[in-house]
Amino acid sequence: MAKPTKSMEKSTPAAVLHEPGKSEKSLKKVARKVDVMPGGPKMRATPGKMVYYFGKTKCEGAADMKTLLGGKGANLADMVSIGLPVPPGFTITTDTCAAYYRNGQRLPHGLMNEVHKNISFLEKESNKKFGDNYNPLLVSVRSGAAVSMPGMMDTILNLGLTDLSVVGLANSTKNARFAYDAYRRLINMFGDVVMGVDHHLFEEAFNKIKSKHHAHSDTDVPETGMIELCEAYKAVYQRHVGEVFPQNPFKQLELAIEAVFKSWNGERAISYRRIQGIMGLNGTAVNIQAMAYGNMGEDSGTGVAFTRNPATGENAFYGEYLVNAQGEDVVAGIRTPLPVDQMPKWNKDVYKQLIDIKNKLEKHYKEMQDIEFTIERGKLFMLQTRTGKRTGTAAVRIACDMVRERLIDEKTALLRIPAQDLTQLLLPSFDASKKKNVEVLTRGIPASPGAAVGKLAFTAEEAVKRAHAGEKVILCRKETSPEDVEGMHSAAGILTSTGGRTSHAAVVACGWGKCCVVGAGEMQIDAKAGTLVIRGKKLGRDDVVSIDGSTGEVMLGPVSTVEPKLSGDFATIMKWSDKYRTMGVRTNADTPEDAQRARDFGAEGIGLCRTEHMFFEGDRIRVMRQMILAETQEARVKALNKLLPFQRDDFIGIFKAMKGLPVTIRLIDPPLHEFLPHDEKSQKEMAAELNVSVEKVRQRVSQLHEANPMLGHRGCRLCVTYPEILDMQVRAIVEAAIDCLRSNIKALPEIMIPLVGTKKELNYLREMVEATINRVKEEEDYKPRLDIKIGTMIEVPRAAVTADEIAQHAEFFSFGTNDLTQMTFGYSRDDVGTFLPDYLSREILPADPFQTLDTGGVGLLIEMGVKKGRSVRNDLKVGICGEHGGDPKSVHFCQRAGLDYVSCSPFRVPIARLAAAQAALLVEKK
Ligand code: PEP
Ligand code: MG
Repeated sequence: MAKPTKSMEKSTPAAVLHEPGKSEKSLKKVARKVDVMPGGPKMRATPGKMVYYFGKTKCEGAADMKTLLGGKGANLADMVSIGLPVPPGFTITTDTCAAYYRNGQRLPHGLMNEVHKNISFLEKESNKKFGDNYNPLLVSVRSGAAVSMPGMMDTILNLGLTDLSVVGLANSTKNARFAYDAYRRLINMFGDVVMGVDHHLFEEAFNKIKSKHHAHSDTDVPETGMIELCEAYKAVYQRHVGEVFPQNPFKQLELAIEAVFKSWNGERAISYRRIQGIMGLNGTAVNIQAMAYGNMGEDSGTGVAFTRNPATGENAFYGEYLVNAQGEDVVAGIRTPLPVDQMPKWNKDVYKQLIDIKNKLEKHYKEMQDIEFTIERGKLFMLQTRTGKRTGTAAVRIACDMVRERLIDEKTALLRIPAQDLTQLLLPSFDASKKKNVEVLTRGIPASPGAAVGKLAFTAEEAVKRAHAGEKVILCRKETSPEDVEGMHSAAGILTSTGGRTSHAAVVACGWGKCCVVGAGEMQIDAKAGTLVIRGKKLGRDDVVSIDGSTGEVMLGPVSTVEPKLSGDFATIMKWSDKYRTMGVRTNADTPEDAQRARDFGAEGIGLCRTEHMFFEGDRIRVMRQMILAETQEARVKALNKLLPFQRDDFIGIFKAMKGLPVTIRLIDPPLHEFLPHDEKSQKEMAAELNVSVEKVRQRVSQLHEANPMLGHRGCRLCVTYPEILDMQVRAIVEAAIDCLRSNIKALPEIMIPLVGTKKELNYLREMVEATINRVKEEEDYKPRLDIKIGTMIEVPRAAVTADEIAQHAEFFSFGTNDLTQMTFGYSRDDVGTFLPDYLSREILPADPFQTLDTGGVGLLIEMGVKKGRSVRNDLKVGICGEHGGDPKSVHFCQRAGLDYVSCSPFRVPIARLAAAQAALLVEKK
């Protein structure tokens, strides 16, 4: 059986979603070697004003300054402007980060002077002094790029504490335990983030102190324990850094600023940007802000919340808080926090204030927000607000709800939903009837909806490796951290034993729309041994579990799934999309089932039916091989005659499914060798000659194998050599159409000739197609008009540049951008994986050109093809049927290029409908 080939690829939802980190190795290499992010916007030699203050005394930033101040910096300034309680601070610009890298990783001249000045403003406003031995000002130092990258870069809290100022803090707050708790956190974070001291070394020291004081959790450690802990941490620091912990607060600040700049090019930040396709940014801003303390006792706390549920979109305040804790405790998933709706029991006033702020923020931004807050001795402070990440399901619901609440209009709602994220709504969920019979091992917190089935993987590296090898895995961790993102991305689902709804795992999975269950506290995970114990039941790497991201259930074994319902808000979004889009949306389908599914998803016809797929089923491949091996035309025709009824029946099925809608059928395309098995004989001969094992040769051959672009005997060239194939296929189409029309089924076939490069080639075959159509009509004695359009694919660059000639013989064009990309770049679509990851991580290419259309090159050919084609035939129908037809960015290009429709795999049809509406709305905006 022939291996699946390029022309047999289909986009299933899994294929759409699954995009494992292809070149981990090369990525790491780059992270180590490359310090500057190339490809960023052109910068001035010096960054100009480097620091922007925000506070009651003055506020220099604004919401629309995200590029310069990063999202966090711009919104902190904005929150100050609308009167929310925000601790004062200042932001070092992203331009300064770029200048740092241009400068060979040195802080730009004058930066620390500006920082000193702004610290003085802060001191005045807060009435405290940085590094003071009586009433010290402490600050947080946080990253914040123009596009939010949650948890991908580093944060340092309580900066400014030293051996002397910690005493000052203890005295001024009359709370020594708190002061030393703050100090130990600083030494830990500073050691870890700035100096690269392994976090576990601090944890070990903490565990010793905890057991000495019989403390179960961090908060049980008494004041004396905290003082001892600071000493122990300083010793760890000195042992591993080779110097004492810095006692000059400005030195601490300078090093911390530099560490945040450096974190922009850390491995995890680079991975995150690559996975999210974030490019062309300057760098990160640094936000330095007066500390508000959530760890001052039982009347203090900290939390993270969303103004609406980011997993489901429900309009309900959603989040968590921890009493007597600092921000990092919540996000890191170290302690499991309480749901925010329990807050009134703890502090009614603060809860009410928070709800008021939530409402104010939503009214102000007209968008769901993700907020961070701290309560210091009963006083609420806002530390951050940003547009909240959400699943596709939530995006759809929030958009519809906000229209109903008259916060936004339909057009804004459509533009808010990332079209690609609709895939999540099209994914199956667990079949409730099958769930009844499975063993529910435990239940966690449902953090990101979906149904994931896979074998257990216990580390991120393991998940990446096994997923690359084709296994479906569930990444099972105590908690996740930013280092795990590659593994999280490769896994089918994520399962953790600690952490809440806003833990790292939950937030990242939600952003990706990946199924995730967190905080399944009954699980005991031993990552080293590769085991998971739940209520005495032991599972290992080969055990399959099913996790339900909507209920939090963790089930033993695989559970079958059911198709989603496309109603409610999803249907509303589709209705609005159809109202505003101007391009048509067809599908690529070659079976009646696919055709029906695509029609259910809203396809308005078939843009590409790859007929060769029909030759692989059942007995047909044997007949096909007979045809290929035939030595005479007569023998070939005999075999083709056996294929004819199969092909005719397939077409009847497709016409029935698509009745009343056009069906573009492409004549045979792949080279014939793709239908044959692979031969090993020569490998055996070589093995004997060199006296090595056949296995060794086979391995080497497969290692070196390059599937070069099929530029040979394929596409229309096949029908020039073997006209009987064309004859059989056209006959099958016409007979099927007549059969349907006679039973009142409106069949609208369009015949498409692939891989054409010259007008003569097309005309030669077109005449053959017409002759066969007429012959079958006569044989069938079919008198009514039979309207079968004949057109061509534009996939050879020569066809695009001579489109005015080609259009003389074509009633429609369909851009086959898979081949057009291959031939324009000279990259084989079958083995591009050998070098593409390097091109992407080094930003030589902005995106995979086989996924997202290269508008600057291939796009120019398309524009030229459309223009030239329509210059000779102004009613020329033009579409696209390469994989790009379902890629939102490429769909936007198609709108600008004036295409009549896009065609994509069935599961991408809703994405294309929304993307087409967004493209039309964006053109209208301009
Ligand atoms: C194309 O080349 O874009 C196309 C749709 O044809 P295939 O992928 O079958 O070569
Ligand atoms: Mg092609």
